[in-house]
Amino acid sequence: MRCTLILVGTELLNGATLDTNSVFMAEELNKVGIKIDLKLTVGDSLESIEKALKFARETSELIILSGGLGATDDDLTKEAIKNFLDKKLIVDESELEELKAKFRRLNIQFLDKNYKEVEKPEGAISIKNDVGMAPAFFVDGIVAFPGVPKELYNMFPKFLKFYTEKFCPDLDPIYIKDLIVSGIPESILEEKIKEYFIDPNIEYEFLVKDYGIIVRMQTSNEHKIAVEKIKEKIYNSVGKYILGEDKEKIEEKIFNLLKKKNYSLSVAESCTGGMLSSTIVTVPGISKYFQEGIVTYSNESKIDRLKVDRNLIEKYGAVSKEVAEKMVSGLTTDIGISTTGIAGPDGGTKEKPVGLVYIGVKVQDKIVSFKFNFTGDREKIRKKAVLHSLFELYKILEEDE
Ligand code: ATP
Ligand code: MG
Repeated sequence: MRCTLILVGTELLNGATLDTNSVFMAEELNKVGIKIDLKLTVGDSLESIEKALKFARETSELIILSGGLGATDDDLTKEAIKNFLDKKLIVDESELEELKAKFRRLNIQFLDKNYKEVEKPEGAISIKNDVGMAPAFFVDGIVAFPGVPKELYNMFPKFLKFYTEKFCPDLDPIYIKDLIVSGIPESILEEKIKEYFIDPNIEYEFLVKDYGIIVRMQTSNEHKIAVEKIKEKIYNSVGKYILGEDKEKIEEKIFNLLKKKNYSLSVAESCTGGMLSSTIVTVPGISKYFQEGIVTYSNESKIDRLKVDRNLIEKYGAVSKEVAEKMVSGLTTDIGISTTGIAGPDGGTKEKPVGLVYIGVKVQDKIVSFKFNFTGDREKIRKKAVLHSLFELYKILEEDE
């Protein structure tokens, strides 16, 4: 089973919007075992969309479009599909009523042009939009979704379930196991675990990300058990570097441990400038445990707010193990994290280059610090500092278990 993705939107061609919809769809399709043949990006033009449809039909049984389903004049996807299939556009009365009800609930005036949002080619099946206005629809091997990512995310899995059950029930779903590894260079990691990668039914990949390396094993569902066995071997070999599996987020894992132990948390940030706090507060419910995040960017602030000794800063410098530890000891909660580093691009020296970051972690009376030499630009270095500080805290909390 092969498919083509057509991403519609002039903003995707001129750099104004990054196409993330196809990344999401690719992952979902991959999981069920549908291969993507082709990905086409076209502007908001009838001619371009129709051309893309013709091209896609030559190779793919399934054509998936995203974008251009709205009510404005630049939304032309339906018109293009109508021309391509030579079908009339019709409106289902019950869908129209539902759309009008949505407008009433949101207190928005329903205009004539909004009819367009429930139009669909004759014979099309609609996919209910729980989070927006225009439903997606499927007709003759063509499915069209709105471009708004959250609406696509809502309807795409529903469509895939329907489609695979009806048209390709024999597809072998793909099983993917990701292990998130950090703190070990890729080449050494490979040396340590490559001996397990001998099963020809499993594809192995190393994906390098900001936060570490993903070891991905991909296979069909029938070989799932073999993957689980290899996973166990990998844990036995490099378990201490494994930070999680699949889509697990480190901040959520920390939250679960804080909850379990009823620990309070605060952070003192220098080079991360609030990014650490902002990552922590993405977890719903964290307010019960997260007391404060302070950005102590200047020396004065470190001295005033965290009681770091001026002499200590003069002796070792603000970016040092000693200051990182002193910063975190200035926090009064059960758990604390401090960051201090040189994010660049300027400010590096031979002894203290750009990317040098010290992280302090406090768990009750115990204080430890970690030194990192991160690479990348200012943004990357700050991001890595955030993630690694969370990883280090997590490892300590988990050992405590
Ligand atoms: P609307 O009813 O809002 O007009 P629509 O189906 O017509 O929905 P578009 O107008 O094409 O969709 O896009 C709506 C929003 O979704 C825009 O903000 C656009 O930048 C974003 N968007 C469109 N396509 C993509 C994509 N491939 N990846 C990420 N975002 C996208
Ligand atoms: Mg639109």
